[in-house]
Amino acid sequence: MTDATATAPEQFPDDIHRRGLMLVLSSPSGAGKTTISRRMLELDGNLSMSVSVTTRSKRPGEVHGRDYFFIDPTEFNLMVNRRELLEHAKVFGNYYGTPKSAVENALKAGKDVLFDIDWQGTQQLSESARDDLVSIFILPPGARELERRLTTRAQDSAEEIARRMAKANDEMSHWFEYDYVIVNRDVDRSVEQVRAILTAERLKRRRQVGLAEFVRGLQSGL
Ligand code: 5GP
Repeated sequence: MTDATATAPEQFPDDIHRRGLMLVLSSPSGAGKTTISRRMLELDGNLSMSVSVTTRSKRPGEVHGRDYFFIDPTEFNLMVNRRELLEHAKVFGNYYGTPKSAVENALKAGKDVLFDIDWQGTQQLSESARDDLVSIFILPPGARELERRLTTRAQDSAEEIARRMAKANDEMSHWFEYDYVIVNRDVDRSVEQVRAILTAERLKRRRQVGLAEFVRGLQSGL
């Protein structure tokens, strides 16, 4: 039962040119977003992290160019003025922004980009790049768990933790601006949910820009 002219359908989908998407994960501190992001990057070879610039100081263990590009306020202002940032915002008294060129190159090459940015940045992206954007808000499973996670995170001072706790309520009020909302009761399950969203969003017709050509090929028997 071998037919030399038959081609396995699985050979086709990867050939269809697709525009990359921007996958935004936002949450209040302590909801588990960082763990979910890391796992997504390990599991998905077509996904890369957008590395932001920030004026905040480096925490122990953080690496310039991997976690953030740590820059001073003058440099940050220059980037804003030169329109080198896709979005930028002040969060907890420090400035953060997404460098434009790395993201644009990835999207054009059909690569997806993961963003760990706050609601202000997400709002800006939804104004400037709605078609490329898929936004997910991660909620903690409960108030006690949120408090526990914030206080067991040793890297920040007590004052910083108190400030973040006060901010969490404010941040959570933006959940309804997101395309998807995940309650992070179990990290494995949340990661599976993010992967399911990514799979479905990748298959959106408008992202598969090579589909028309593919179908023409099918029709002409190629
Ligand atoms: P952290 O200082 O703990 O790394 O991040 C603090 C907050 O800033 C987090 O909510 C994170 O999502 C947000 N953030 C990090 N990078 C950016 C960015 O480039 N733009 C915006 N708008 N927010 C960011």
